[in-house]
Amino acid sequence: MIVENEELIKNLIDGKLTHEELYRIISGDKDPGRFKLMLKVLQERVGWDEKIILPVSDRLFIVCKDGKPVVKCSCGFEFGDYRENWKLKARIYVRDNEEAMKEIYKEYLGANPEWTELREYYCPRCYALLEVEAVPAGYPVIFDFLPDIKTFYQEWLGEELPCEDLEFKDLSWEYLSKIIGGRGD
Ligand SMILES: [Zn+2]
Repeated sequence: MIVENEELIKNLIDGKLTHEELYRIISGDKDPGRFKLMLKVLQERVGWDEKIILPVSDRLFIVCKDGKPVVKCSCGFEFGDYRENWKLKARIYVRDNEEAMKEIYKEYLGANPEWTELREYYCPRCYALLEVEAVPAGYPVIFDFLPDIKTFYQEWLGEELPCEDLEFKDLSWEYLSKIIGGRGD
């Protein structure tokens, strides 16, 4: 097993590794110790105590909250059950016209808004931009990452999942039905 130091992991997270260092990590053997060290570094950087199980992106994490895996922003905002697409609970800004596209792209360099729209997903609390998707207008919200965390822990790390083992299933539609069905009640 490769023993890596914390400094290297911090630089990896901050995007400060040289090409050589990064290449060594990408092309080398995968190391469960590196993952645990990364969780430790990330945990030290957030201002809350819920244990990080798996990072989703720079700012989003699956954490164990009251025994259940939920998605949490680094600012502390909780998006709830990790099996429901967190984007459905974000603030969403859609660029679907020339004017809005021009704020990002120079003329003729952006997508044609009749065909494509840009959707920006922001945290409802800290307003950090969490994700952007470019999709045909009307395309369903993409669920980028629904990890099988139990399999990851058991088969890749050789450990038990440090949180309740819930059925591995996309619950986004159930969540949407609940909100839409709840309207007007
Ligand atoms: Zn936030």
